[in-house]
Amino acid sequence: MSINVKEYDAIGIGFGPANLAIAIALQEISSERDFNCCFLERKPQFEWHGGMLLDGTRMQISFLKDLVTQRNPLSPFSFVNYLHQHKRLNSFINMSTFQPTRVEFNDYLTWAAGHFSEQVNYSQNVVSIEPIEQDGEVQKVKVITENSDGQREERITRSLIIGMGGSPKLPAQFEGKLSRQVIHSSAYKFWRDQAAPAQDDASIAIIGAGQSAAEIFVDMAARYEPGSVNMINRGYALHPADDSPFVNEIFNPEFTDQVYARTQEQRQALLQRFSGTNYSVIDVPELNAIYERLYLQNVTGKGNHNYLANHEVVDVAQQDEKVSLLLRDKASQQQSWQQYDAVILATGYQYRGYSQLLAPLQSYMAQQEVERCYRVPMQDNCKVNIFLQGCCEDTHGLSDTLLSVLAVRSHEVVSCLTQQFEQEAQIAE
Ligand SMILES: Cc1cc2nc3c(=O)[nH]c(=O)nc-3n(C[C@H](O)[C@H](O)[C@H](O)COP(=O)(O)OP(=O)(O)OC[C@H]3O[C@@H](n4cnc5c(N)ncnc54)[C@H](O)[C@@H]3O)c2cc1C
Repeated sequence: MSINVKEYDAIGIGFGPANLAIAIALQEISSERDFNCCFLERKPQFEWHGGMLLDGTRMQISFLKDLVTQRNPLSPFSFVNYLHQHKRLNSFINMSTFQPTRVEFNDYLTWAAGHFSEQVNYSQNVVSIEPIEQDGEVQKVKVITENSDGQREERITRSLIIGMGGSPKLPAQFEGKLSRQVIHSSAYKFWRDQAAPAQDDASIAIIGAGQSAAEIFVDMAARYEPGSVNMINRGYALHPADDSPFVNEIFNPEFTDQVYARTQEQRQALLQRFSGTNYSVIDVPELNAIYERLYLQNVTGKGNHNYLANHEVVDVAQQDEKVSLLLRDKASQQQSWQQYDAVILATGYQYRGYSQLLAPLQSYMAQQEVERCYRVPMQDNCKVNIFLQGCCEDTHGLSDTLLSVLAVRSHEVVSCLTQQFEQEAQIAE
């Protein structure tokens, strides 16, 4: 245990794009007052979804939805300034695209993150958050981290800014069954480069029907040309992602107000109505590429890659480095065991990781929904601020888990936080 327990005005948990945007907003907004904030990130360095940083994959939103532009187009942390600093602005313009590759966007985010290296503590996994109670009141919390050697450190703060992102969502049949042969898409690239089957005629199953499943199918089919790569979908068809302009307005920052103003029932209806912008959908170029690839197999008679529509996984068994899936054809109800060398679960993410960490504070929370400024309402005997990012889809809309509103949301969070500090400072004077 560290002897020097440091105290901060705020601690950010996780340092992905959400808290990186917070770091920038804090620097831009709180220049009059030196705000003492640190960020704790479990990875050894900044990386944006490294397990899916596949060559050629592109952003699903415009580069203008970077960390700052929608709030402050003059900020030095814009994607355009990144291009300028790296002497690629003109070449980028020549490509006539709004959607850079993910590899480049990761490089942009890493460049921006590099400006905050003194505030970020990498290789620090937050394992627990404990209330510090005094005379029945909680003014601060203790944040406990563990590094890769198991060493623990403590820090104290009055305000937490959660930006932990998602964690793999596994179908029930696969709970506790991740292995060298069964992986989640979030680890795909690391697995592909280090642990994927060596033989080029391997048989691979990809479960899922979203963007990650499609990107992995394209990548695996190219790698295992003589093999058999199967994309397994419980639905009938692969659906295109809707990024048409009228629909895209739901990702405008001001749309968050519209969602928040509605009843929970109306919000759910909105999420449902527009889920085709983000969930179980595929960008049209990848979707067409998959269809054409499978079609060409029929033309040439070569190749054994498959799209299995309307099939669900009933059971899974692993033996001798092989994985067997019991598949049910939902139309005929027939079941059969199929054996694979590897199974990749492109089954999405869940965003509840924060609730486990905050469990010790549960009894201090007012049982009300999160505020518009993303703060968790607390009871009168708890003065701790907790801001949630990336897990407020139910109250704030579909943008919440994405990059779409980062520039504006970070300002909303930071304004709420700093205003409170200023008010308290005035009262104390
Ligand atoms: C492959 C992929 C591509 C995507 N492409 C797009 C896109 O093009 N456009 C778009 O809008 N959205 C996209 N998304 C959605 C994605 O969620 C956002 O891009 C973005 O990553 C959200 O940022 P975040 O900071 O909230 O979460 P994350 O990027 O997930 O960052 C959270 C960070 O918190 C850290 N962390 C978690 N728990 C702890 C802990 N206990 N202690 C310390 N650190 C912790 C994690 O290591 C991680 O670095 C994509 C998602 C994926 C998976």
